Formats: sequence, C-alpha cells, structure tokens
Amino acid sequence: MTAAQLSDKGRAVRRLPVTTDLDGSEIEIVVNELRGSEPGPTLAIVSALHGSEWLAPIANIDLLSHVDLDTLHGTLLVVPVANPIAFASGTRNIRDESDSPDLNRSFGGKQAWLADQMARVLSEQVLAEADAVIDFHCGPWGAAMDVVGCPSDYSDTELNDRALGLARAFGRPFIRRVPMVSEFPGPKSMIGYAGEKLGVPAIVAEVGGVGFDAEVESAWKQMLIDGVLGVMVHLGMLDWAQIETTAEFVGAAHRVNPTRGGMVEPVLGAERLMKPVEEGELLGRVWSPYSFAVIEELRSPVSGVLGMVPTAHPARPGDWAYLVFERSSWAG
Ligand SMILES: [Zn+2]
Repeated sequence: MTAAQLSDKGRAVRRLPVTTDLDGSEIEIVVNELRGSEPGPTLAIVSALHGSEWLAPIANIDLLSHVDLDTLHGTLLVVPVANPIAFASGTRNIRDESDSPDLNRSFGGKQAWLADQMARVLSEQVLAEADAVIDFHCGPWGAAMDVVGCPSDYSDTELNDRALGLARAFGRPFIRRVPMVSEFPGPKSMIGYAGEKLGVPAIVAEVGGVGFDAEVESAWKQMLIDGVLGVMVHLGMLDWAQIETTAEFVGAAHRVNPTRGGMVEPVLGAERLMKPVEEGELLGRVWSPYSFAVIEELRSPVSGVLGMVPTAHPARPGDWAYLVFERSSWAG
C-alpha cells in the first residue's frame, strides 16, 4: 500500500490482490492496519507464513483489542494469515507442483509460482512499509517452542543490533542469535530478505503450539501478545514503562525427529520446554500402531536446552517432535 492510501487515525482491513487461482477464486493477502493518532514507526506482524502454524492468528484477535488508537504512535500492520493457500489445506507449505512450495523460502523469488507471487506482495506492500518486522512461527499441531530468534549476520551490522533490541524487548527468557541469513532459514526467508534486501530488521517469535492443554495454549497466546506489546514499547509506539528483561542465549539447534513413522509418545512434555536436558536423556518414544512395539527412542544428542516438545500424535518419518538447542557462547 502507498502512503496516499493510508488514512489518518483508524482501523482498516486491506485486501492485497495476488492472483487468480484455477478455480476462479482471487488469491489475496489480508492486512489489518491500525493507524495511531500520533506519528511514529510502522511495525509489521506477520503470522502463518506456514499454514499449519495457527496459534498466532488466534492471538492476534486479543492483540488488536489491546491497541488504543488514541495513544498509539505510528502504525501496526497485522497480517494474520500470510499464506492463505497453505492455511486452507492445513499444511506447512503450498501443495502444488512448484520448485518453491515453502513461502518462507521464497522471498526474492522471481517466478510465477504462487509462493513467489505471495512473497512479492508481502515484500512490496507490507515489509517495505515497515520499520521493524515480527515473524511468528510455532510448531505445527502437536509441537511447541518458546524462543525468539534474531539474525547475527545481516551485512549491515547496525541491523543486527536493532534486531537484537527487538528480540530482547519481546521479553522471552531465551534468545537464539545465529546466522539466519547465510545459514538457516536463509536469504530467501522473510526475516533474511527483510533485513538483507529491504534494510528492515526482523525477528522470529517461535512461541507456543497447538494441540496442548487449553490452559497451556492460552499462556502461550498471552506470551505472544505481551511480546508484541513489549516491542511496541521499545519502538516508542506505546507510552508505557519499558520493562527490563534479561535473556539467555542459545545457539545451534539439533532436531530429534522420528526417523520411522509411528505414534510419538512424549516422555518430556510442555512442562520441560526450554529447560535443561542432558546428552543421552530420553525425550520420547515412537511405537508402532500396528504391533504396539517401541520402534524408536528419541534421545537428546547433546546437553543443552529443550527447544521443542510434542504432544502425543502419529508422525511420519521426519515429522516434528523434539529439538535441543546448544547453549550459546554469545553473552550479548
Ligand atoms: Zn514456521
């Protein structure tokens, strides 16, 4: 959207056209725009780049109700469902015959594939308008995380510091500061592209998951809302007192996913999320729904912090279950 289209103080729902699908429907990306009465920065909040990660779209409802436009400085751009195609199919990626089915690996893509086209709309009409970006991810159904990531390797080193400031302001106890542009998720991820190509610092909030106890999930939703409000205070968008936060840093991630299909049975569950684990510690088991035999034990490959936990669910080989973070030497 252009500055001319932006109204004075107010709320607007903007529908950004992407293209026409084979069934004749129009594909569009919906942006909730909240423009405050005072001048200030623009913060973009993007969730569900992966269609199976739908905790943040739910949390956005409560977030929007917290924002008082009379006291808001600047503009909040909320994209609740960045990937409506994958969201509609309940899958992480777009199911088509493309070379780039993963929207979060398609930024800067120049082809006509759906993900490339959606990434272009998001880049040109949301990210390019923003001074900072928060990208929400959580586990797919049955897996949860609780860490905020910020790139350590934007070419513009000042952007790395700004991203770290955003990550601290989000207020979670652990920050993962690693090379996200040159390594994972890479230069074609949204946070990689936003900083490296558009000069907009971005963080990734990997907090919560779906498929857990209602009480646990509602605590995660509140963490997401509190995190965004913390970032808004940090950016001067809210005249609230800044809350001092301390965080520990984690580094390399080791995925501990089943190599064989079966029922994942957690030994360590949500109560152990972001708690220490020892090398070799039993995290969970996989058992056959056919013979009922245990066919795999999931053990921590290193000592570190438990970065992802599952709930009991059937898993195909490689599906998400556990992840262990190494503690980082970065002392920030
Ligand atoms: Zn994701």
